[in-house]
Amino acid sequence: MIAGNRSINYLRISVTDRCNFRCRYCVPASPFSVIDHEKIARYEEILRITRLACELGITKVRITGGEPFVRKGIFSFLENLCSIKALKDISITTNGALLTQDKIKALIQMGIKRLNFSLDTLDPVKFTSITGRDRFHRVWDSIVTAQALGISPIKINVVALRGFNEDEIEAIAGLTLKYPFHIRFIEYMPMGDSDVERKQQILTQEIQDKIESTLGPLMPMEKEYNDGPAKKFKLANAKGVVGFITPISSHFCSECNRLRLTSRGTLRPCLLNNYETDILNPLRNGATDKELKSIIESTLTHKPLFHSLNDPTAKNIPISHMTSIGG
Ligand code: SAM
Ligand code: SF4
Repeated sequence: MIAGNRSINYLRISVTDRCNFRCRYCVPASPFSVIDHEKIARYEEILRITRLACELGITKVRITGGEPFVRKGIFSFLENLCSIKALKDISITTNGALLTQDKIKALIQMGIKRLNFSLDTLDPVKFTSITGRDRFHRVWDSIVTAQALGISPIKINVVALRGFNEDEIEAIAGLTLKYPFHIRFIEYMPMGDSDVERKQQILTQEIQDKIESTLGPLMPMEKEYNDGPAKKFKLANAKGVVGFITPISSHFCSECNRLRLTSRGTLRPCLLNNYETDILNPLRNGATDKELKSIIESTLTHKPLFHSLNDPTAKNIPISHMTSIGG
């Protein structure tokens, strides 16, 4: 599938809006409710949409949420997903809190070899304060276990925030000296009414300067197939990689190859734009494969050329949070 001059081969599927954490940059600050179960796409519906998207050129899928592992039946869904021949790459983004050794082994057995974890601090007290849950040790154990079991690469997403983890940036980047992790600093995206203020956002140049002033030069690396929008660097003698994802300071829309399926069964051509089309209700109302494919294709004609997140007056910036769209 083509959108403008971009070839779209990557589908990000949010399987749930529910989460066992309450990360302050991700969930709304005010009380919020989750989507009714019957409005959430069932696994067989997600699989049908995925198969059709594959017929249109999707070869790569990432499962996200909310927290994917809180949804019942996720392992048999993943097994069915792995049986779709056209999918060359399946990965998952998780907070890691529910991933035991057995579950990681089960993922490896079904062919899932890549995992992205989220970890914003190495301090258990700060961890509890940002996620609302006392689970630092459980998450860290999952990451280390995944590494020991051969998950590779292990990517760790870090949202850098002023007044929260800015004093840990060097220590977090320094993990790459000891572990083969890809540590990826993501610029905070102000979406909806989160508890985090825009002024807490730390842009990539500042993060990079902090790392280089303590740990030495970051040497740029060549891009590889699965890198996505991250710009990659290596510290001297490092086992791992330091990456930067810069939706704010240098948006990567011109390279974006993604389409998103939300847990409500809507298709979004862009995370940072409110435009979406409903594919679940047409599917439930008996749409044919051809009709569903044409919904997928027409959604992509609305893929914007750039986002407006830097313009607080823009009307099309997302009012939903990452938990509900799927990060
Ligand atoms: N629960 C899983 C997790 O935390 O990895 C998957 C879903 S979460 C929405 C996916 C990613 O989005 C996480 O790495 C999280 O740090 C990131 N994220 C959430 N809200 C964000 C925001 N406002 N700005 C930047 N990244 C955000
Ligand atoms: Fe949950 Fe992930 Fe959002 Fe944290 S970032 S609240 S773990 S969905």
